[in-house]
Amino acid sequence: MGELAIRLEGVNKRFGENHIVKDLDLEVYRGEFLTLLGPSGCGKTTTLRMIAGFEHPDSGMILLNGSNVAGSPPNKRDVNTVFQNYALFPHMTVSQNIGYGMKLKGVSADEIKRRVNEALRMVQMEAFADRKPRQMSGGQQQRVAVARAIVNKPTVLLLDEPLGALDLKLRKQMQFELKALQQKLGITFIYVTHDQEEALTMSDRIAVMNNGQIEQIDSPSVIYNRPATRFVADFIGETNLLHGTLDANLGKELKVSIEGVSFTFEKGEASVTGRDVFISIRPEQVSIKRQRAEDEACLVGRVTEQVFIGSFYKTVVTLPTGMEMVVAQSAAQGEFAHQGDEVYLTWENSKAVVLAG
Ligand code: ATP
Repeated sequence: MGELAIRLEGVNKRFGENHIVKDLDLEVYRGEFLTLLGPSGCGKTTTLRMIAGFEHPDSGMILLNGSNVAGSPPNKRDVNTVFQNYALFPHMTVSQNIGYGMKLKGVSADEIKRRVNEALRMVQMEAFADRKPRQMSGGQQQRVAVARAIVNKPTVLLLDEPLGALDLKLRKQMQFELKALQQKLGITFIYVTHDQEEALTMSDRIAVMNNGQIEQIDSPSVIYNRPATRFVADFIGETNLLHGTLDANLGKELKVSIEGVSFTFEKGEASVTGRDVFISIRPEQVSIKRQRAEDEACLVGRVTEQVFIGSFYKTVVTLPTGMEMVVAQSAAQGEFAHQGDEVYLTWENSKAVVLAG
């Protein structure tokens, strides 16, 4: 996977009684776009602030390009941070904002001008060089904040919910722009968000955090298709989490009964112990049939709700025990079911994941 840009080893952080980051290990590669994703309060920002140097861990190591920086201040680290609120100086122009850090370091005026212009070109904001922050939209201010952060070419850029204040349409546009910029510059990005769609679209890898720990770290497609825990399955996208009973663990296969019907599943990476398990199946992976094939393991239920979403119908099927399954059905599907129909539900074994209860 290449060279490491950042390594966190056994990092702990407490605020008073609260243990916020727990024994965290994390490796981020050079040129990688890594996202810390998780619900509000799970410790994403605290982790990012420790990498930046605004907070210090109680224990553990933070290695930046191979050397331990755990005790050193932010300005001694080869990282820069982009915040959600942009943190631009209101009384300075765009150029002055971007050049300020270099001015403090005594860089010559010509060199500052050259590098400011280059950074502005990168974010397509050359025309705004003389504006003040309040004379620009949120998206424009965010581009300036990014320009300011990349102007001294840090090896790592930390971004804390940088698009959180923008409306949905602009946010989508900026997601593509930021990703393209990251690829062009080859800078390592560590990006914090609680928006799973944003994480899935932009990242090379996602670290899903919960309660101060990383539950799973992998590519967006593995995180989506092969969640390792119930929390990850539930947090990322929509899924059906069906309660089941583990009847037999046969090495590569698991026999699980759901609603009294015995199913065989592929054994994934997730460790499953105990009798109570949950099966995660995405709505688009479930097929609805009007008739059952002989010997085919399937669940029987009745369509109790159907909503048109645009590109598909969201169909809710209620099983005899009252458990519900959500199915994404395209109207063009051969066996289209309607409200009130009795139906049979099947899926490909490899598309379902058995998780510990
Ligand atoms: P969000 O998405 O809401 O920003 P987060 O995952 O980034 O959430 P953190 O900002 O890391 O979460 O905060 C984790 C917990 O630590 C929260 O409960 C927060 O109140 C607490 N916390 C953060 N900073 C401090 C501090 N300086 N003093 C005390 N508690 C803090």
